[in-house]
Amino acid sequence: MKSLAQLVHELGKLPGIGSKTATRLAYFILNSEGGYVNRLSTAMMEAKAKLRNCDSCYNYTEEALCDLCKNPSRTDHLIAIVERPSDVDAVLSTQSFAGKFHVLHGLISPIDGTGPEELHLNDLRKRVEALGETGAVEIMLALNPSVESEATALYISKTLQGLPVEISKIAYGLPMGGALEYADKMTITKAISNRVSVQSCG
Ligand SMILES: [Zn+2]
Repeated sequence: MKSLAQLVHELGKLPGIGSKTATRLAYFILNSEGGYVNRLSTAMMEAKAKLRNCDSCYNYTEEALCDLCKNPSRTDHLIAIVERPSDVDAVLSTQSFAGKFHVLHGLISPIDGTGPEELHLNDLRKRVEALGETGAVEIMLALNPSVESEATALYISKTLQGLPVEISKIAYGLPMGGALEYADKMTITKAISNRVSVQSCG
């Protein structure tokens, strides 16, 4: 039963999966028809091998630039800052956001050793600088409320100091620790349309 215990252990590391669900999934895998386990493991290995971070927004993509960054109907002058790739999907699901993204893949956290370099904040600055005189840029912070996201917002405004940017923050009624990816479309749509300006740089 060592291999079963190992499988349950590994599945239990997945987000939102407790030991009970991990056990259920392990038995599902054991009972699955012939090719399923191969297809599942191939899909996991291929995604892991082929996906990389977009050169511009750091979302996952198989090419240098992701489809969102390449989409000419999306404006360069509105950039949503999100913590995780799944937050990109949450914002896109509202169909009320026509800008682009910057995916942090984390938040400033001295305890975990996550600083501005890990969040590619200098690249964000370069990206805004590259827009030059083509007009003001709105940076829309779409972060889940937490102490770390407050610290991150502060770093972002410091990083963009002196550039013609307006920083706004989505306004939604989620409690501290509430997650964007679990919020319903209506809530996120309202949060985007009711966003408040926090700072004008430049
Ligand atoms: Zn991109």
